[in-house]
Amino acid sequence: MLEPKKKYGELAPSERILLGAGPSGVDPRVLRVMSTPLLGHLDPEFIEIMDDTGDLLRYVFQTENTMTLPMSGTGSAGMDTVLSNLLEPGDKAIVAFCGVFGERMIDIAQRTGAEVKVVSGDWGRIIEAEQIEAAFKEMPDAKLLAFVHAETSTGIMQPVDDIVRIAHEHGALVAMDCVTSLGGAPVWLDKWGIDAAYSGTQKCISCPPGLSPISMNARAQKALNSRKTAVPSWYLDLTMIERYWGKERFYHHTAPISMAYALREALRIIAEEGLEARWARHEKNAQAFTAGCKAMGLEPFAQEGYRLPSLITLKVPANVDDAAARKHLLQKFNIEISGGLGPVKGQIWRVGLMGSNSTSKNVFLALTALASALNAQGFKASASAALEAATAVYDA
Ligand SMILES: *Cc1c(COP(=O)(O)O)cnc(C)c1O
Repeated sequence: MLEPKKKYGELAPSERILLGAGPSGVDPRVLRVMSTPLLGHLDPEFIEIMDDTGDLLRYVFQTENTMTLPMSGTGSAGMDTVLSNLLEPGDKAIVAFCGVFGERMIDIAQRTGAEVKVVSGDWGRIIEAEQIEAAFKEMPDAKLLAFVHAETSTGIMQPVDDIVRIAHEHGALVAMDCVTSLGGAPVWLDKWGIDAAYSGTQKCISCPPGLSPISMNARAQKALNSRKTAVPSWYLDLTMIERYWGKERFYHHTAPISMAYALREALRIIAEEGLEARWARHEKNAQAFTAGCKAMGLEPFAQEGYRLPSLITLKVPANVDDAAARKHLLQKFNIEISGGLGPVKGQIWRVGLMGSNSTSKNVFLALTALASALNAQGFKASASAALEAATAVYDA
């Protein structure tokens, strides 16, 4: 028989400070509930947990949508769920693309068999409303407009109002990726008129990766219920999952029990803090961090006026090696930050100040560590100037 290749030691992961593009740090309260006893997925106590989670998700999404629930799987499962449930062969869709996650939406939308029109923008800039308008001129019968609210690969926060208005004027549904904004920046599903949205647990919600909160309004549900073909993925089929999360409690697949505990606790923490206080905290810490970076000679990458408060992108200075700097941060400071993806690989850093990690303590620590990493490569960065600039933001 095959034997284990060696004696495997007990897990002892390092206590990293996760300041990258996700996962972010998790409150000990969330880890604690994950080690509590399992319940059955149809246990009355678990059903109460599901109901609490739905209510708390409606608060965080700012929506009254009945269909608001966490899909099993990471953020990409939510993306797949929304697009695969709303699109089918013969449909037309417009997808905005100016980063990795818009690109992933295009891939998924195309896999549904829908005809996809891509609206492209520069990486690090927003998509202009005129571009969306022009796309609808060319594809007036598009069923859906899909866009990323918080593009984690570039640090851009896409303005919403105009593009939603344009889509609705053309009778299209609007699907929004809010994986890196939900719980860290204003997201108003109902006020904005978003028809379908998805997020992930491991960014600003500060929960481990594993669930993907989604929400759909009545219009989107109507489109779902008027499909001509079955949703191609059995696992992600909302018409069936709704029967488990809704009144019927009809078994579909076993809910990831411990993850559901974790999400409920993470959402409870958000409710205790209050959404507006949480958004303000993210904004303040992003401003302080950005001021500190500028003071030590680093330049922001994302377009001014549209920068995400939960993920700050910086240009890697000339003659500084991206990977070596990130290695310095990890080895000397236990800090993870992320590098660039795709066309900006090696050219930008992505620093996440998400959820419970968005603190002044982490801002000062990250600035100090970044200055150290830069100086190690001969780039003269003044940590004291950076800390002073950040302090000035907090004192203002
Ligand atoms: C992280 C992320 C995703 C994908 O989430 P996974 O949890 O990695 O599957 C999708 N969209 C955006 C904007 C993200 O930041």
